[in-house]
Formats: sequence, C-alpha cells, structure tokens
Amino acid sequence: MTRIDLHSHSSVSDGTDTPAEVIAYAVEAGLDVLALTDHDTVGGIEEASRHLPPGFTLVPGMELSCAHQGSSVHLVCYLFDPDSSALAEELRRVRSDRASRAEEMVRRLQEHGVEVTWERVLEIAGAGHAEYADANTIGRPHLARAVVEAGAAKDVQDAFDRWIGSGGPAYASRYAIDPVRAVRLVREAGGVCSLAHPARAEGASNGAVPVELAERMVEAGLGGIEADHPSHNRSQTKFWRGIATDLGVVVTGSSDDHGALTGRRLGRRTTAPEAFEELVAPATGASLLKG
Ligand code: AMP
Ligand code: MN
Ligand code: MN
Ligand code: MN
Repeated sequence: MTRIDLHSHSSVSDGTDTPAEVIAYAVEAGLDVLALTDHDTVGGIEEASRHLPPGFTLVPGMELSCAHQGSSVHLVCYLFDPDSSALAEELRRVRSDRASRAEEMVRRLQEHGVEVTWERVLEIAGAGHAEYADANTIGRPHLARAVVEAGAAKDVQDAFDRWIGSGGPAYASRYAIDPVRAVRLVREAGGVCSLAHPARAEGASNGAVPVELAERMVEAGLGGIEADHPSHNRSQTKFWRGIATDLGVVVTGSSDDHGALTGRRLGRRTTAPEAFEELVAPATGASLLKG
C-alpha cells in the first residue's frame, strides 16, 4: 500500500528539521509520497528534491496563510508554478509582512519586560538556511522559542497561551489573502489545493472554518478537504469527511509534522492513493519529483 502524507514543514518555515532531514524522517516512517508544505514558501523544495531515494516521490507544495473575517484559514497547495506572477507577488508580500509583524511582536514583548531580541529571533528562524535568504518565513513558533529561552514561558505552547496566541498581549495580526481568492490564484498558477485542518481556524468564533466558506472555496476550484489531521478529534474528522462528500471533493489526511516542535509524526495521518490521484489530476503548474 502506498503511504502518502501531504502536509509537512521544514526549518525553511517553522519546522525544526532541514528539508533533507524531513525526507530522511519520511523514509524512516515508511512513506512513499511526501508533500513538503512550508508556510508561504517553496524555498525548501530544491534541497528536498536532492535527497530523494529511489522510488520516493516528493510533491512540491506550500501551506498558504489566508484570513477570513479575522480568523486564520490555511490552504495546502500543490504542483503550482511558483513563478506565476500574481501568486509570486502575493507570496513576497505575505513573507515580508510576516517579518514586520514579528518585529512588532518583539517590540510588544519587550514592552512587557520579556527579554527577547530581533537578532535572536532571526537566528532561530534562519538557522542553517542563509542560502534561502528571503525565501524563509518567520512565524510565531520562532518567537515562541525565543520567549522560552528568555524564561518568560515554560514551553512553546505556554508562550502562545501567555503571549502570542490570537488576542494575547504581544499578538499582532498580519497580512493574509482571502481564502477564495487564494484558491483562484493557485488554480491560475496551475496548482491544486486542499483546505488544511478545517476544524482549526485560529480566531474563528467556534474555532472552525465556516462550511459556507468551504462551499465558496469549492466553487473557486478547491479540490480537497484535510479532514484527517492530528489536531482533529473523531467527530471533527467525521464531520469534515461528510462535508467533503457533500461538496464532491476528496478527503486528504496528513501529519502536519513540524519536527521537534510537534513531536516527529510524519505518516501519522495519510491520504488514500485514489484521493491523491484525483486531487492532483488537474495540476499543470509543476511536476511530481521522483527519486
Ligand atoms: P504564524 O504562521 O506566525 O501565524 O504562526 C502559526 C503557527 O504557529 C502554526 O503554523 C503552528 O505551527 C504554530 N501554532 C499555532 N498555534 C499554536 C499553539 N497554540 N501552540 C503551539 N504552536 C502553535
Ligand atoms: Mn506551522
Ligand atoms: Mn496550518
Ligand atoms: Mn501546517
């Protein structure tokens, strides 16, 4: 049976393992197909592609941060052309705003007496990846690690709870794309996408993506819903599987591994081979990368 995991992060965004290490862990976990989906960047794909063993398939991808009425909606995107101009321009804007927003959060932390520095946050975010320069994305997990080092939280989760979670004293919002527009941009760039962890939309009134929004995303070309995600409980998984069936899109399942940040968990959720084939069939923007 082909084992397929369609959502993972490397140190090019907020994961802790380099792209090469992510591939090595994926092989160790018995996976045959992995999508590397760093936040708002494809900066790690090239390195990952150089470390594929024979028979292993890498799906070039990215997790796009979108915003809907103040809540955060994530889209896992695959096989798009990253040089497609409208999408590339949005990605540059998102990454640059991530950096200014992180700097703002550092200032707010300092105002609250937390001894973090922007230099240290940059070091944590860029560790070992100077060659990707502005293709790296800075995220709150990097800030959280600096907050823990400064002794103002006991672990990353605690740093989110005390300081930088949505609505926290040092939280700052950031630029993000409208989810329906994001689906269109990815489709226009020849890619396909799945709605990431729909039961987890930070800042949403009941914590989940509104079904009405998922419907509009499907009308815009969304091809899948990531109903199987480690953060979903059984009833949430069942609910979103039902929505995927109702809306006529495939169910995807993924680990959303972030290395040591989440506890290594590649392959903890997987996508059925038939669902994967159906999801990627319309893609024209890039090719699967084979070892
Ligand atoms: P950002 O992309 O900067 O908005 O940060 C969001 C990222 O932080 C997510 O992709 C997760 O990796 C991580 N994250 C979000 N909420 C939490 C939380 N409560 N505890 C730990 N990590 C979190
Ligand atoms: Mn993340
Ligand atoms: Mn996400
Ligand atoms: Mn993710």
